[in-house]
Amino acid sequence: MAIHPGEERIAGSLTARADVVHPTSWFVQDLDERLSVESVALLTDGGAKALPFERRGGQIWTDLERTRQPGERLTVRVRYGGTPREAPRPPWDGGFTWTETPGGEPWIASSVQVNGADLWWPTKDHPSDEPDSMALSFTVPRPLVAASNGRLRRVEDNGEARTYHWFVSTPINNYGVALNVAPYRTVDTTYASTSGTDIPVTFWVVPAHYQQAEKRLPQFLDHLRFYEETLGPYPFRADKYGIAETPHLGMEHQTIIAYGSDFSNNEFGFDYLHHHELGHEWWGNLVTAADWSDFWLHEGFCTYMQALYAEELGGREAYHSYLQGSRGGINNEQPVAPRGSRSTLEMYYLPSGEGDGDIYSKGAWILHSLRHLVGDEAFFEALRRMANPRPELRRATDGRQCRFATTDDFLRIAEAASGRELDWFFEVYLRQPALPRLVTERSGDELRLRWDAPEELSFPMPVPVRVGGETRRVKMKGGEGRLALPNADAEVQVDRKNWILKANGG
Ligand SMILES: [Zn+2]
Repeated sequence: MAIHPGEERIAGSLTARADVVHPTSWFVQDLDERLSVESVALLTDGGAKALPFERRGGQIWTDLERTRQPGERLTVRVRYGGTPREAPRPPWDGGFTWTETPGGEPWIASSVQVNGADLWWPTKDHPSDEPDSMALSFTVPRPLVAASNGRLRRVEDNGEARTYHWFVSTPINNYGVALNVAPYRTVDTTYASTSGTDIPVTFWVVPAHYQQAEKRLPQFLDHLRFYEETLGPYPFRADKYGIAETPHLGMEHQTIIAYGSDFSNNEFGFDYLHHHELGHEWWGNLVTAADWSDFWLHEGFCTYMQALYAEELGGREAYHSYLQGSRGGINNEQPVAPRGSRSTLEMYYLPSGEGDGDIYSKGAWILHSLRHLVGDEAFFEALRRMANPRPELRRATDGRQCRFATTDDFLRIAEAASGRELDWFFEVYLRQPALPRLVTERSGDELRLRWDAPEELSFPMPVPVRVGGETRRVKMKGGEGRLALPNADAEVQVDRKNWILKANGG
């Protein structure tokens, strides 16, 4: 693909290799109508054969001229180009951003998670399928640099322009494919992975921010270490770990994390934006939701990782304080993981059109409550198994480590790791929107507790109660529990740390 910054235009081709699994006489790809298709061709050993195609709305329907049968392999090349959608509010409302660096040179970035990768290349625009690997070539005028996913194979010098050839050796979400163009400088290092291999690390940064980037990179590597120790090895060590400075806030582009923050730490002492986006290399890129309805597996899990990192740096009080900061924003208007298929917009917005962050903050709180329920040992084991269900996947680097997962997969993993039946927990917190309410009654030297759960669902969540300087865990069989108090005046604090996500407090 050639990038023409002055004209805000792209021109190139995409070649898709596909195995036929059902008989078909059409090859269908999504591509935004803003881009025009010059030709579609079937590539064989004998050369390129032009195929007739139609634009049907945002799709290209290519006539394969006969019914292709399972077992056949098709290589289809689409030549296309034009001015891609300019992102109105990247990265949330995305497309291309054409702007300038502080030094006044072109600075270009793609961000298409919510609006679809078909804004800039022909693709099957649904999260349920991914290419096994991807070769990406970008031609940019000097002195611009094109930073992208995977490993840089070579840079071709064409005089006025240079072509950067990248190769992604593993599966990749289509919204994870990214183009970042600027007169970048790089901060390079290697990182010794817990897997025993050295991973090349590069931070592409605009020249004005080179020194800040150099100072910041050691903290980024601390984040990498934290994730490896908590979840398992960095999944894309066969390619690289990369960060590209972007004019938008950030995005989890695989092996080329978009970083558009200001190199500052939050009140917990770390660079939140980088920590969050890096977490998506596990929750999103290694483990991918096959439908947007399960997207809390990306955002809720990733948001919870920042609470864990606050705990790593500042102890348990910092952990609670971090979570408390997001409690007020929880809406409880739609389920965090609804059954059935959903679009990105349905998951990110309420029917009223207002934004909904529940897959982030409520998702994180659900993990927090699960940790309380099953205890640290089972909880962290469940996280590790969710990242890599089998030991050989922790060792794999050739793409086998990547998989699609659902909320029910996590239910099974959490049940196996904890030895508990957890349907009720998932049903109340993830499949319907309302929160359970804890009803407490005290009569003399007895404390009675009762869960008032929505839709009369079962909710036997044990409740921590502090009496006389000691915390007791009150069992809630059938949603009810009792605690005998030392005397009628004993001071009682019910779930004072807010371990349980509930309608009243926590
Ligand atoms: Zn995220």
